[in-house]
Amino acid sequence: MKNTKKMSLVLYNTMGRQKMEFFPIAASSDSVGMYTCGPTVYNYAHIGNLRTYVFEDILKRTLIYNGYQVKHVMNITDVGHLTDDADQGEDKMEVRAQKEQETVWQIAEKYTKAFQSDMLELNILPPDIWCKATDHIQEQIAWIQKLEQKGITYRLADGIYFDTARFPRYREFAQLDMENLMAGARVEMVAGKRNPTDFALWKFSPENQKRQMEWDSPWGKGFPGWHIECSAMSVRYLGEQFEIHCGGIDHVRVHHTNEVSQVEAVTEKTWVKYWLHGEFLNIAEPKLATETKPEEKKMSKSGDNFLRLQLLKDKGFQPLAYRYFLLQAHYRKQLVYSTEAMGAAQRGFINLRNKVSDLKQGAEKSPVEIAKQEKPMQEKFKQAFLQAINDDLNMPAALAVLSKLLDDNTMSSRAAFDLVCDFDRVAGLNLAATETAVPVEIQELITERQAARKQKNWQEADAIRQKLLDAGYELLDSKDGVKVKKIR
Ligand code: AMP
Ligand code: ZN
Repeated sequence: MKNTKKMSLVLYNTMGRQKMEFFPIAASSDSVGMYTCGPTVYNYAHIGNLRTYVFEDILKRTLIYNGYQVKHVMNITDVGHLTDDADQGEDKMEVRAQKEQETVWQIAEKYTKAFQSDMLELNILPPDIWCKATDHIQEQIAWIQKLEQKGITYRLADGIYFDTARFPRYREFAQLDMENLMAGARVEMVAGKRNPTDFALWKFSPENQKRQMEWDSPWGKGFPGWHIECSAMSVRYLGEQFEIHCGGIDHVRVHHTNEVSQVEAVTEKTWVKYWLHGEFLNIAEPKLATETKPEEKKMSKSGDNFLRLQLLKDKGFQPLAYRYFLLQAHYRKQLVYSTEAMGAAQRGFINLRNKVSDLKQGAEKSPVEIAKQEKPMQEKFKQAFLQAINDDLNMPAALAVLSKLLDDNTMSSRAAFDLVCDFDRVAGLNLAATETAVPVEIQELITERQAARKQKNWQEADAIRQKLLDAGYELLDSKDGVKVKKIR
């Protein structure tokens, strides 16, 4: 189904802190370059990280829906991200390799694969180009040399640093209050750092210690700082100016501010036109058993509140039900995860799927051609959907249009089903998949059985399996989770 009218697409741009109409850099072009900061592969992604990638997927699908051709690049950080997120501490990759008694390369491969499999399960479209930091060391060295030629770097005992005071636009992006920052940061500064915001471009390998990942450079053996990879690789694949760059909200202050500085200090022109950032997924957890109101905390890889997609699956939740859970909140609002909220989302998702399944059966029995008089009604729904997604990716409003469509009985099943499939190009919920539609009560029994199995309560698990068989559903346990087959 083609978009009949071009409607303006408005996005909230962190650069400028306001909604702006989207236009590609070359006015006559439909091509859009999009760079998304990828995972640091020293551990599994948690469902908070995955929220950011789902938001970026919605952005990409919205652009495609609007007729743009997106060239999407995502990096894999497999070196240089230090444990304190600044310029001190150890490399997260090397620490993990020691802990797991594997090489850093094995660690990188293992967690990259796990991340890509999570993406697949969440129906996140893969980027056109994956780029690993360790495959682009020469590009990073070359970019640091350009900064050096501009006189913007300086050398300390542990590495080469970017002098943020020499790049006046530094504070613009992060909207930093430099004076307060100066006063507050004096104590923790790396010895010799000229400004608290200065950051490492190249770190030297420690003396008397061989790192698994290290390279020769004009400044000595070492490894790149965390931020330079995104600048060097995005320019390599998307050019010195491109349309969109995104990531989680925590990247605004440091990582993205540093990326902008590294590029614009060299090119002396605006690098990225639109910057988009997704808000956090938080988790509600009681501080003490006696407390009634749980504390909401950001989910983080280093915290003890770290949930993986696999854990959700173990609890009987479907990955796409998690995607549906995420789409119910706007990407710029914080969202709190809890088992109850996820349970409600899964029930909603199954209901949605069942309605679509009925519609599909109806559509299969009706003629393929849609009656002429139905077209204006279809168009009305389509415009409402487009208006929602084009208003800074308002997915809750878009889902409301979908829901209204499913409750509408003035259109034929064929006309409504075609629209659902069209909307699913953006929602990515696989709504037309021909899997067995499972009633909510059955899904709840499956979830209970999963919980019983987790607690090794085999008797209970078997009893539930029997109940399901009696109701006409057979369960097939596989390494990808539980599959349900309707047997009568
Ligand atoms: P990392 O693998 O730690 O580099 O993070 C990958 C992405 O997840 C980045 O874009 C982060 O900004 C984002 N992120 C980290 N924690 C959360 C969270 N709790 N909710 C949403 N996004 C997050
Ligand atoms: Zn980045």
